Amino acid sequence: MHAVNDTLYANALAPFLAEVERLRPPDVEVIDAHTHLGLDEDGRSLTLAQLLEQLDAAGARRACVFPLHDPDRHPAYRVPNDRVLGWAAEAEGRLVPFCRLDPTEDPLAESERCLAAGARGIKLHPRAQDFVFDGGELDSVFGLAESAQVPILIHAGRGLPPLAEGLVDLALRHPRAVLILAHGAICDQGILTSRLADHPGVLYDISCFFPLDVMELLARVPAERIVFASDPPYGLPATSLYMALRMAAQAHLDEQTTRAVLGGTMAALLDGQGLPPVSAPRRGDSIELSGRLARVYGYASLVGPALFTGALDQARAMLDMALAACRDPEPGTVGEALDTIGAALSAADALLEAEGGVRAAIDLVYRSIVRAATEIPDTA
Ligand SMILES: [Zn+2]
Repeated sequence: MHAVNDTLYANALAPFLAEVERLRPPDVEVIDAHTHLGLDEDGRSLTLAQLLEQLDAAGARRACVFPLHDPDRHPAYRVPNDRVLGWAAEAEGRLVPFCRLDPTEDPLAESERCLAAGARGIKLHPRAQDFVFDGGELDSVFGLAESAQVPILIHAGRGLPPLAEGLVDLALRHPRAVLILAHGAICDQGILTSRLADHPGVLYDISCFFPLDVMELLARVPAERIVFASDPPYGLPATSLYMALRMAAQAHLDEQTTRAVLGGTMAALLDGQGLPPVSAPRRGDSIELSGRLARVYGYASLVGPALFTGALDQARAMLDMALAACRDPEPGTVGEALDTIGAALSAADALLEAEGGVRAAIDLVYRSIVRAATEIPDTA
């Protein structure tokens, strides 16, 4: 990016970074439960050096890592799995490799091969690999995860056919398996959180584009089952850290629980101490928003999806409406939030015009909707 744009971005970002410093518990261990390396069919890619730099920016020492939807994935994801194992070996203990499986290409043999070669978890992607959880081969993979005591991370985000019921049945047949449902389980958050409430080993990762999904998760499941994650190259650890700290504060999590969410729970799991005991969900049934910030949130939350589909004019129109909602001679109690968000959104607007500025613009818009959604502490 051009130096002028770098300065624009840095200035708008500064208040958000200051808040991270204020909210982050001292010397907290941050572990990103969901990262990728390599190349995806959609054109996205991430190198080892890039991922480590992104983790450093969030103060995260460790991360779980697995392949993308790699064009070289046939047969059985063998080539991308071996690459990830190789990169993890180069990373001096910072990366915990998971193997990615294709349920139609001998997943049990591939998971056994990878676990023997040093993998310490399994990744399943029901959208990319186009499957539902109806037993068969996956029963044996879940059985292996139980006996080898390794977690299975499952994509549970956008774009899935209804798979919750099959997944619930499979999980309940394997009560000793530890599952990490990715992206706040938004594909079916209601069914999954309700029907898996008594399963002892279900975690939810917070790599979500909309903060309300994560805030609601805190009303549905114990905080001790919610883990920090950012899904690079699609998300950024530093941005996700801001969301995690804001929603922890909004939900009145104590310092120990905040530490568990940021990395403590994953550390216990990965280091073989088992999962911590649970307590009741921390948040109440409602999410209270300032009326002024709710208007900002509504418009700003439409900017990212428009950008992802290439509708730049629509994105800018929504950004302009969000900016208009920030201009308020009577800001009530949210003047500082409106100022910070207004400055971030106008920097995002300028960055959208600049070459190579889209990523920075999205980051600022995302932080703005997180700030707007979490401004009023939970009232429960
Ligand atoms: Zn992912």
